Amino acid sequence: MKQPVRTRFAPSPTGFMHVGGVRTALFAWLVARQSGGQFLLRIEDTDKAREVEGSIQHIIDSLDWLGLNRDEGVGTGGPYAPYLQSERRDRHMEWAQKLIEQDRAYADTRSEEELDVIRKDAADKKKPFLARDYRPEHPPKWEPGMPLRFKSKPTAYSWHDEVMGDIHTGPEVVDDFIIVKADGYPTYNFAHIIDDVDMRITHIMRGQEFVSSVPNYLNLYEALGITPPVMAHLPQILRPDGTKKLGKRDGAKDILDYAKDGYLPEAMLNFLASLGWNDGTEQEIFSKDELIQKFELDRVQRSGARFDEKRLEWMNGYHIRQLSIGELYTRAEGFWPEEAKGATSEYKEKILSLIQERLKYLAEIPSLTRFFFTDLPVDRSLIENNKYLSSADVVHLKTLLETARAELADSNFSVEDLTNRLNGLLGLTHTKPGVLFSLIRIATTEAPASPALADTLSVLGKDTSLRRIDLLLAAL
Ligand code: GLU
Repeated sequence: MKQPVRTRFAPSPTGFMHVGGVRTALFAWLVARQSGGQFLLRIEDTDKAREVEGSIQHIIDSLDWLGLNRDEGVGTGGPYAPYLQSERRDRHMEWAQKLIEQDRAYADTRSEEELDVIRKDAADKKKPFLARDYRPEHPPKWEPGMPLRFKSKPTAYSWHDEVMGDIHTGPEVVDDFIIVKADGYPTYNFAHIIDDVDMRITHIMRGQEFVSSVPNYLNLYEALGITPPVMAHLPQILRPDGTKKLGKRDGAKDILDYAKDGYLPEAMLNFLASLGWNDGTEQEIFSKDELIQKFELDRVQRSGARFDEKRLEWMNGYHIRQLSIGELYTRAEGFWPEEAKGATSEYKEKILSLIQERLKYLAEIPSLTRFFFTDLPVDRSLIENNKYLSSADVVHLKTLLETARAELADSNFSVEDLTNRLNGLLGLTHTKPGVLFSLIRIATTEAPASPALADTLSVLGKDTSLRRIDLLLAAL
């Protein structure tokens, strides 16, 4: 067993959770679980302008759906409460006060316009803008309501990132930055550092976009006399074509929409883990327990990971096929079409065992099963668009279907008997399976495709099957 670690997931409540967010949570959860440590949820809500109502509940629901349980945090409580960042302002201000006393922070009351002037000055001199080159000469004594800026000490850094490897930066990337805003809230850049120390976080896992800020954070850790936690910055999730970071417009959808579409949480976990990680073998399917066992931060790739929804669909189909019919029945609850109301659980289980093989997500259930519960209107276009039937003579099709009806009328509708009779019909009518079976399938299901014909007919039963054949015969 590794040393117990404490990790946190620290999202800002700024909208719905998408794959990027939950992957960060998963990796942090895995690292905590495999070491016998703790995983906690902290909500970073100090940017009040960006806050979106309902996001906190949405974050909790998403983690719950995936089974990423928390030892501490918002909604759970724990020894280092509160876990809502905005309620920790006293702590942030205590540390800010220390920085002021040590002359490592100063009030910055310049307006945006004044700051624009100095930014333009840097641009005119063709220098990158550094706030520390433009410190106000006589800043006022800091009072609440004034922005407070960290006074940096330019330093070169070398550090190890568990994913990105060894990183070296020069003093030129260290700068003064705002730690408390005019509205009295601390910035993320400041608050997360204090909270991580207070909450005894040993490992920080977060998106790659934060790497460039690490030199500033290291400078602040030094000023505060804090030993930084281990850091792991996770690769971006890219659009399917690999060109850019996945954005909401490229299909980065609300993670709970996948739940609504009938993706299984175990498939989603498997898929999320594969976004930037593999175990070094060809294995693609992992259970949750296997992930806990095998996940390693230093096997997380540094380059971006492509988001491929087709792969998620495939994985989901795989995990669906692993379920027993009883389990699938439980998961399918809420996904049945309206017409299934009143059908027995036995009947529905039979249907599930017929479609399990090709079900990719549970929201497909209505379109795949509606015909099991209701007669659908005769749709001649199914014949016209069928490659075996489109060129056939209608009179011939009618005769064929009448012959089939007569044969099926004698069947006891067991799968075995139906199979024998359907095969016998092929010889009797000198017809190819494509033609005969398509015709019977369309007559009985009003669908271009369905599970194996004998199985389907057996589940539909004799009365329904013959009635539907009659309906088509009357329409031809
Ligand atoms: N609140 C930050 C965000 O949502 C989290 C970064 C971190 O985990 O430190 O992007």
